[in-house]
This record gives sequence, C-alpha cells and structure tokens, in this order.
Amino acid sequence: MNGNEATAVDPAREPGVDTRPKILAVDDREKNLFTMRQVLGELDAELITAGSGNEALSQTLRHEFAVILLDVQMPGMDGFETAALLRQREATRHVPIIFVTAISKEERFIFEGYRSGAVDYLLTPINPEILQSKVRVFLELHRQSRALELMEEIRRSREELRVEVDKRRQAEGELLEMSAELVRANEELRIRAEALEQSNLELKQFAYVASHDLQTPLRAISGFVQLLRRSYRGKLDAQADEWIERSVRGAEKMRLLIEGLLSYARVESRSCPFEPVDLREVFEDVKATLEASITDTGALVTMDELPVLAGDRGQLAQLLQNLVGNAIKYHGPERPSVHVSARRKEQEWILSVRDNGIGIADKHHGKIFEVFRRLHTEQAYPGTGIGLAICRRVVERHGGEIWVESEPGEGSCFFFTIPDKEGGGVCPDH
Ligand code: ADP
Repeated sequence: MNGNEATAVDPAREPGVDTRPKILAVDDREKNLFTMRQVLGELDAELITAGSGNEALSQTLRHEFAVILLDVQMPGMDGFETAALLRQREATRHVPIIFVTAISKEERFIFEGYRSGAVDYLLTPINPEILQSKVRVFLELHRQSRALELMEEIRRSREELRVEVDKRRQAEGELLEMSAELVRANEELRIRAEALEQSNLELKQFAYVASHDLQTPLRAISGFVQLLRRSYRGKLDAQADEWIERSVRGAEKMRLLIEGLLSYARVESRSCPFEPVDLREVFEDVKATLEASITDTGALVTMDELPVLAGDRGQLAQLLQNLVGNAIKYHGPERPSVHVSARRKEQEWILSVRDNGIGIADKHHGKIFEVFRRLHTEQAYPGTGIGLAICRRVVERHGGEIWVESEPGEGSCFFFTIPDKEGGGVCPDH
C-alpha cells in the first residue's frame, strides 16, 4: 500500500476541508503504517502516510506537516538521506523529524540520526503511549507556533490598517484645507469682480459725465472763435487770421471727439431693449445716411439677403454705419465697392462688410478696435479713432465677437457675430 492509498483511507482527507495539523508517517512496511494509523488515529490530527523516501518528499511538496515520523531502514533512499534532503528545502527545514528504528540502539546510528536532523527517536516495536505523547508534544508546538504566526499576522494587518487610517486622515485634512482655501479664493475673486464691476461702472459714468459736461464750455469756445472769425477776419494781421482759423478747426475736432466719446459711453447708458430688427431696412437707412460720401466717391454699396434678428435697432444701425462708412473712407485708387452679407452658423449669424480699399497690416488687426487708435494722419484720412471701438462695444453688448481679415492693398473684410439661439432670425422674403 502506498501513501496515496493511505491518504484515501483517512476520513478527513479532502484538501481544504481538514484544517487539523498534519502528521507524515514514512515506512516501507504496511504493517508498521497500519500500527501508526491505529495509534495516531486517536489524536486530533490528520495522518498522511508514505511508503518510501521519495514519496515522503513529494507529500511534503503538497502539504505542510507538524511532524514527520521517518523509518530509518527503507530500501532505496533510507531515512537519513530523506531527512538530509528535507533539511535542504526551506519549507521543510524546520519540520520536526522523529526517526523510527529497531537498530538505533547503537550510538553510531543515533549520532547519524541527529546529524541528519532528527529531533527525537522512537524504537520499534512501538510503544503506543510513547508514540502518542511524543507526537502530541510536536502537535502542540505546531499549534502554538501557528497561533503565534496568526497573532503576528493580525498585529501586522492592524498596523497596516492604522497606517492606512492615518494616511486617510491626513489626506482628508489636506482636502479640507484645500477646499477651505478654494472657498477663500472664490470669495476673494467674487469681491474683486464686484470691485472691478463697480470701477467699470464708475469709469463709464465718468466718460459719460466728462464728455457731456465738456460740451457746454466747448460750445462757448466754438461760438466765440467763430464770432471772432466773422468779426475780425482781414482786420488784424495774417498771423492773427491763421490763429483764429486754427482755433476754429481745433474746436471742431474737439467737438467730434467729445461726440464720439459720448456715443461710446452711450452704448451702455442709452441702450434699448432687444426687438426683432430687419437688417435689410437698417442697411437701407445706413445707405441713406451715407449718401453724401457714396455720391462723392462713386461707391458701389450692395447687400445679400440680410436676416431679421433680435437686437438694439439704433445700435445695429450705428455698427453698420461705422463699418460701411470706413469701407468707403479708406478706399484706394479704385472706385470703392462695399458688400454686406450674412450667413447662419449654428446658433448665430455671421455678418460681414467687405471692401476693396487700402487694407490693414496684420499687426494692427487687434489694435484698431481700441479707443482713439488710428493708423493715419488727419490729413490723409480724417477721423477720431472711436468708430471701431463703438462697433466692438455694440457687438459685445449683443453677445457676439468682431474681427477683421485684411492685407494691405487687398481690401478688408470686417466680420461680426450676433447670437440668435431661437433661430427666429430668418432672412425675410425680399
Ligand atoms: P477712424 O476711422 O475715426 O480713424 P475707426 O475706429 O473707425 O476710427 O478706425 C480705426 C482705424 O482702423 C482707422 O484709423 C483705420 O486706420 C483703420 N480702418 C478702419 N476701417 C478700415 C477699412 N475698412 N480699411 C482700412 N482701414 C480701416
């Protein structure tokens, strides 16, 4: 009978089911193994048997043993050799081995037995009580060391848990600190935004009040220098005439600048609620307003289908007038040609005013929308540098954007968008 058969006989042999400590009994004689089963069957342990040293080694690969009972005299690999091999493997190095022999009364054998790693000896014929009590000691030892291992494992996992909890607490603390920081930063941002809005409002009011209040003294200056010109032209010397002339021109320029500033400030202060605006009508009005310059320059001003969209009619008219006016003013040697068109893209309208004029260098494309930003002298092209700043403000008030695409000598195309989410801004049936 081999060890596997012996295993099959044992009642609690299913791996994973029997949690009792295991004993390995190795003997080439079935009679001896039978005795072992009878004697050790009373203990609270699982007995596995092996019929040879080789079989014993293979059982130790499959199971962990509390104690091994090893017959010294076996054919093939004897007990001493088997023990020596068990001592070489890490997993079995410390498993207690009890040699079972009939011949070990001689000291030579006993000595060799201990050298090969035996912890004890049992002489045959076996005395059941001695066998039981010796094995019991090792089973108890095994139990205790397992209990110790278990306790150590519990201690280690408790420690790991503690470290983990500490880490989490720290992370939670950091998170709390961060969110408090975020709340503080948000609050600071809100306060700053409020302050900025307030100062913006004050600035707008200032621009409005300043330009408005400047009008009265300017009107007086303008009136008096014109009176001076009318009453004294040719009566003083040529120098005085020129100075008076310059004062009249200066006062006129100032009037234009103040008017420009006022209309810039009024984009906010004199705005009207949005209503459906027919851009075709607006275009016609703009053409009528610009009639003098259209006639003077012989400009060709045309349009595509233009939509009806929600906006401030007066402001949209001013926007279009500034763009078309510039397109005529900044013409080149050719006869000015201006074309206004519109196309829908997703939830907005993109409108464009294209001309064949002098064009604008790339580096000025962003700057020309700033207040008082001009690229030419008064002599070359008269103006105040406020027109496009007003355009930008009007477009922004409508929630859109404005930009230019242009190259010097190649004409310009000004684009602006007007959001129209409801899609109500259909092109009217012209
Ligand atoms: P202004 O026309 O009174 O100078 P704007 O704000 O309307 O002021 O325009 C700013 C500048 O942008 C102009 O001085 C001009 O140099 C340039 N600009 C505007 N429109 C055009 C255009 N259609 N073609 C070429 N340059 C233009």
